[in-house]
Amino acid sequence: MRLRIDIVTLFPEAIRPYVEAALLGRAQKKGLVFIKIHNLRSFSQDRYRTVDDYPFGGGPGMVLKPEPLVRAVRFIAEYTESSPFVIVTSPQGELFTQRMAWELAQKEHLVILCGRYQGIDERVVALTNAREVSIGDYVLSGGELPALVITEAVVRLIPGVLGDEESLRYDSFSEYPFGPPQYTRPRVFCGLAVPEVLLSGDHARIERWRRERALEKAKRMRPDLFSLGSHCERREGVV
Ligand code: SAH
Repeated sequence: MRLRIDIVTLFPEAIRPYVEAALLGRAQKKGLVFIKIHNLRSFSQDRYRTVDDYPFGGGPGMVLKPEPLVRAVRFIAEYTESSPFVIVTSPQGELFTQRMAWELAQKEHLVILCGRYQGIDERVVALTNAREVSIGDYVLSGGELPALVITEAVVRLIPGVLGDEESLRYDSFSEYPFGPPQYTRPRVFCGLAVPEVLLSGDHARIERWRRERALEKAKRMRPDLFSLGSHCERREGVV
């Protein structure tokens, strides 16, 4: 087993089908990753299984209480006899990027905490020594989709998961900021022809063309990727 991921959520049923299907399902069957989903409610100790409470200071909505979340992390750490890397999903976290995915793919054990309502009691981050991670500048209703986004981006980097590791080279944010434009049959579709160079059989020329097109598009769509310290460069030595 290369990696274990524990996801703590109030809605296990929203996550389970996705981690059992397609790439994540196959990676688990191959024994490359083990994904366990925990119901946050089962870590609540009062008789109503309460997981949320009113915010101190007033304001609308509810906040996830710290005890069940911290108890969940401690339980998972004890049970697995490891010190997992804990991620708290939050729109206020560090932006999740391909570079962070490479970094997380080197870990042995991740625990991802999914918030709901107005979010998670602020103390949980400090108490679990977590990294707060955001998947983008927008607000979702829960950490379930962010947990799946992080899980899939990380798991596909584990050697053996994709089958064809070479394909990682062609991904955006890896060797070049963007992957190359891709075409498949038919050669002409609705009057639009596939660029002639791709049919030339001249591999050096194809490679050059792909690189130029990819760079040109990246510069147009994402000039920010070319600034110093941009997040597209990957951590070396993972694959
Ligand atoms: N009141 C909070 C938002 C809470 S949204 C705020 O304004 O910052 C409820 C939960 O959804 C969060 O606790 C988090 O787990 C998840 N979430 C929402 N948007 C997210 C994002 N962009 N990235 C990661 N997690 C997010």
